[in-house]
Amino acid sequence: MSDALLEIKNATKIYGGSGFMSKGNTTVALQDFNLNIQAKPATITTIAGESGSGKTTLANLVLGFIKITSGQVIYKGVDVATMDKRQLMEYRREVQAVFQDPYAVYNPFYRVKHIFDMVLKNFKLASSKEEGRALIEDALNVVGMRGEEVLEKYPHQLSGGQRQRMMVARAYMLKPRLIVADEPVSMVDASLRAMILDIMLRLRDEHNISFLYITHDLSTAYQIGDNIHLLYQGSVAERGNTVRVIENPKHPYVQMLIDSIPVPDPSVRWGGEEVTTLDDEQMRAMVESGCRFYNRCAFHMERCLTKAPPMYAVGGEAEKLTHEAACYLYDPEVEKVAA
Ligand code: ADP
Ligand code: MG
Repeated sequence: MSDALLEIKNATKIYGGSGFMSKGNTTVALQDFNLNIQAKPATITTIAGESGSGKTTLANLVLGFIKITSGQVIYKGVDVATMDKRQLMEYRREVQAVFQDPYAVYNPFYRVKHIFDMVLKNFKLASSKEEGRALIEDALNVVGMRGEEVLEKYPHQLSGGQRQRMMVARAYMLKPRLIVADEPVSMVDASLRAMILDIMLRLRDEHNISFLYITHDLSTAYQIGDNIHLLYQGSVAERGNTVRVIENPKHPYVQMLIDSIPVPDPSVRWGGEEVTTLDDEQMRAMVESGCRFYNRCAFHMERCLTKAPPMYAVGGEAEKLTHEAACYLYDPEVEKVAA
């Protein structure tokens, strides 16, 4: 019996290619992805990467919204693909989602309380109306709201920040062990962003809820993340303790990203031509066997094209298991030859 809450083993998702017309038109959205979230203590694991790097694909795999091409998503020791009805029910209750645009989740014709009533009903959380109401109120309090302020309103009458906090409250009602939050703060302004990130930290510390926090923004990752996995075109370039990775990046791609951030500026994000080029999409198709960063890497070697680099431990002895980079620069065999 492992003490992992969630394990992802060699998860690969390839879009297209199943129909006879789609030959040659496939996208490897996620490749050989591995992750381990311990049951205790609760942690925030960040998945970071620029647009198109495979973050939402990973979220959708964990939430069971799309079918995995190969590999496994394992929850409390059981492969999600082999779960029976009861196990699936528990999984759907304990693993909740918060999305970038909470408006899309609400039905505009119903008052906001409807979304909470549905949760109470679908998961049979309360045996009386009063009990249900108390659960809703408790959940709203956790995100700093009160029922009388919001429940009778329609979704469009709430601010984006209120809608997002209510989605967190809705998730909280189910007493989840894990919340998959896909860019939860990228559509709200800076002050609300801080508030929502703070709620996440409190849920982690006071309610033992772990997060898979998905973002294209390294500064929020730095603020709240325990561990980070940096994706580049569907593959992990670097992973480890968030502070170590961001303060001392090892993969040439991650170094480039972080060097391009003027250090104390917390508002810097990805995007823009500098990092994303058209060539990348072509590279994604072309470099099936090698490192995806090859054509932009100042340090590339011949071997980078023949076989994608595995994860190598980087940093000192003490950091060994908590900081790794997928780059041949850190191949210990090569170091020996050079010495
Ligand atoms: P991110 O969330 O990091 O922006 P995604 O996981 O949405 O990235 O996308 C990763 C890659 O997979 C992109 O190249 C995207 O175009 C492709 N992709 C995503 N969803 C689909 C889909 N339903 N069908 C085909 N390709 C998709
Ligand atoms: Mg996305």
